[in-house]
Amino acid sequence: MTRESISSVHEALIVGGGIGGMAAAIALAERGVTVDLIDLDPQWRVYGAGITITGPTLRAYRRLGLLEEIKAQGAITTKTRLFRYDGTHIKDLDEPIIEEGLPATGGIMRPVLHRIMQKRVQQLNIPVRLGLTVDAVENVDHGVAVTFSDGTQGRYDLVVGADSVFSRVRELAFPHMGPAAPTGQGCWRISIRRPPGLTEGEFYLGHDNPCGITACAPDSVYMWMLTPHVERDRFLSDDELFDTLKELLKDFGGNAGWVRDTMTREDWINYRPLAAVLQPGPWFNGRIVLLGDAVHATTPHLASGAGMAVESGLVLAEELAGHDTVADGLQAYQERRFPRCQDVIESSVAVGRLQLAHGDPREHAHILEGALGRLNEPF
Ligand SMILES: Cc1cc2nc3c(=O)[nH]c(=O)nc-3n(C[C@H](O)[C@H](O)[C@H](O)COP(=O)(O)OP(=O)(O)OC[C@H]3O[C@@H](n4cnc5c(N)ncnc54)[C@H](O)[C@@H]3O)c2cc1C
Repeated sequence: MTRESISSVHEALIVGGGIGGMAAAIALAERGVTVDLIDLDPQWRVYGAGITITGPTLRAYRRLGLLEEIKAQGAITTKTRLFRYDGTHIKDLDEPIIEEGLPATGGIMRPVLHRIMQKRVQQLNIPVRLGLTVDAVENVDHGVAVTFSDGTQGRYDLVVGADSVFSRVRELAFPHMGPAAPTGQGCWRISIRRPPGLTEGEFYLGHDNPCGITACAPDSVYMWMLTPHVERDRFLSDDELFDTLKELLKDFGGNAGWVRDTMTREDWINYRPLAAVLQPGPWFNGRIVLLGDAVHATTPHLASGAGMAVESGLVLAEELAGHDTVADGLQAYQERRFPRCQDVIESSVAVGRLQLAHGDPREHAHILEGALGRLNEPF
């Protein structure tokens, strides 16, 4: 597909080679920008969880040209099956097809998704430097002067901070912003082989700790569970993670019970306290701009954080291509992204708050259905 090229930016630096940073790198490079990408992690890894890719996220990946690979290497599903926590089937929710030819929903292992995106970054000959961050970023005459953590320097027409929730770029160039706020919940995740007979996504409701299972490949799934966050003075060991999750699942039936009964100490298990923030505007300072969790970090209640990051990368490139100056392009990017990210974050945080307060499940469903419906609208 030919894309409108960007005339106001010739060279861009992306700080952070995660989902949002790689999406921005691909979208900018496809519009003729020479992109440099850096990432703090010397191995450019991602942890071993699965990730839910909703219809809107699949739409964004289609725009990025990566849908077919995701379909081939992930799992595509058509509905979400709702169960009472003891395994009694409640009903099936058909996931709408939001665009012709687009699958309804699905999942994929994060390392597989990263490899798909990394391959595209490499195909576009984007140089990637690892084990590196920025020590200084400063707007200068028609550009940004950058000092890297290895002492080298560079000059770019645009710097994109996609360095996630503890963003260094945000710290250096956006003093009006602050850290993400803990929401009081935590998320447990386990990556495990697929329970026999599981064909669709599953949610287990009616318990203080809701959980769900997403298929990620023909032979693998991940299961998540949300619990009130318990403050501890240290991280849990692998054995403690295993024992605690098994105990948390004691009341569950159906495939959630199957996971409890068959999980092993070799399965990947992770616990993470949740935090969220919609940073106040402006999201850009001169020619330095933020995207992804660095500026719109959400909780997993709508499974949409990664989708928002990919959309932001696409919209950044589209708006820079659609405007003559960087300032106008960045302003348009912010105006298009802010309300949509606000909706996702506020709805997700509201559902988490209701869960903590043992609120009416009908109210949860109402908030989730409303937000998911709005997310299906074009972005
Ligand atoms: C428990 C949990 C479950 C989730 N589940 C889902 C889900 O099912 N579906 C979904 O769509 N979203 C989900 N999300 C959200 C999703 O993971 C994030 O929104 C998404 O990864 C954000 O992309 P990003 O590029 O901003 O950050 P990341 O993907 O985190 O990438 C940031 C990159 O920046 C690098 N970096 C960090 N600091 C620096 C620095 N100082 N300098 C240079 N590089 C740096 C990191 O190494 C990393 O490569 C979940 C989030 C959580 C917490």
